[in-house]
Amino acid sequence: MVKNEHTHSQEIFRRATEVLVGGVNSPVRAFRAVGGDPIVADRAAGARLWDADGNEYIDYVCSWGALILGHAHPKVVEAIATQARRGTSYGMPTELEVELAARIGAALPSCEKVRFVSSGTEATMSAVRLARAATGRDLIIKFEGCYHGHSDSFLSEAGSGLATLGIAACPGVPAALAELTVNVPYNDVAAVQEVFDRHRDQIAAVIVEPIAANMGVVPPMPGFLQNLRDLAARHGALLIFDEVITGFRVCYGGAQTTFGITPDVTTLGKIIGGGLPAAAFGGRRDLMDRLAPLGPVYQAGTLSGNPLAMSAGIATLDLLAAPGFYESLDARAKRLGDGIAAALWEAGASATAARVGSLLTLFFSGEPVRDYAGAKKCDTRRFAAFFRAMLDHGVFLAPSQFEALFVSAAHTDADIDRTIAAFRESLCVSRESGERNGIIVMQPPAQHRIAIQRPSLHRG
Ligand code: PMP
Repeated sequence: MVKNEHTHSQEIFRRATEVLVGGVNSPVRAFRAVGGDPIVADRAAGARLWDADGNEYIDYVCSWGALILGHAHPKVVEAIATQARRGTSYGMPTELEVELAARIGAALPSCEKVRFVSSGTEATMSAVRLARAATGRDLIIKFEGCYHGHSDSFLSEAGSGLATLGIAACPGVPAALAELTVNVPYNDVAAVQEVFDRHRDQIAAVIVEPIAANMGVVPPMPGFLQNLRDLAARHGALLIFDEVITGFRVCYGGAQTTFGITPDVTTLGKIIGGGLPAAAFGGRRDLMDRLAPLGPVYQAGTLSGNPLAMSAGIATLDLLAAPGFYESLDARAKRLGDGIAAALWEAGASATAARVGSLLTLFFSGEPVRDYAGAKKCDTRRFAAFFRAMLDHGVFLAPSQFEALFVSAAHTDADIDRTIAAFRESLCVSRESGERNGIIVMQPPAQHRIAIQRPSLHRG
């Protein structure tokens, strides 16, 4: 157990609360769901992060999935530094944008053309505007527990920070706008069908995280995504895959390649900016050409296609394209998943772990989680105790039950083994808040297939 001093972090955070709302610039960073003061980051390299007091952590947040190569990869840093010397922003076209767009188009054939923006929020907001313009319809279907950024249309029954803070609907979103978003349970095809029947010729788009990762990791049930594809096509609606997390994460071609489904529009973020602010949306040429300046659908950005972010993205994608990259990342994540499954087994813990490639969540629930209602059944107090115990062991997880843990290429086998050892001890700590025995379900990635195993551990 690491005995950490946090005095400097605490002092910085105290000052932060005076000048920043809640001391943070994104709510989940405030540790509200797990208690205690947040750790204040000082520096990071590879899979390691050091806080303002010099404490060292193995980092599984990795900037919320942006850093698939780990922190400060030398090639990415070099690309950023080289570009910085040539200028940090021009507000003009650059060859770098062409280079990154071409790589995205080659990886995701559904993206015949792309538009770069600066955040995932902008990407999904713009994708929906485009879908509404293309269909002449206003309604969108989204799934409970999925998170698509913080634009008005997506702030009902959303995952991530809203799930963490228990915000079901956000004040400030006009009712007239909220009514245009229809929420249905994830993995529930019948519910989607029912909405299409109820609102015939009114649905502009179905937007989905093809692997949900903002209520914890919830894989799509077999056939779910194909059914969405078929239903959207049959009803003249567009299918938007929000691959802000899954793009270049589960494989080079994203979840759409994993599952062999072609969406009409794809949103990307995180990894494509290599840790700098970049995101994108892309789709069929005829659709994308409705955007200004070719078409009337307006969308713009002062820093869109920022050259530093483009350089970091290109350097990152070129490393991801190396043969064997995803196999070796998956092997590392599997080592972690297997270790966690074994630890749960030994502890007889009432918890389930879900893993798809390098995305993983431990749910403190005795049942497999298939949707938001299932995720909400988790014992979040136990999660909080577990999180804090992991932190004391020098392992930094996302400070919320409703998030994913991200394995990066910088995590070594030794890091993983240390994590598993910490996991074993932290599970014991978290048991103090009450224990029911139950079934452990491990959902391995099965390399591009989703299989649900039931090791059926039942301890009385
Ligand atoms: N979509 C998904 C699937 C996300 O996970 C996120 C952020 N975690 C967003 C959209 C919004 O991205 P950003 O935070 O860059 O606005």
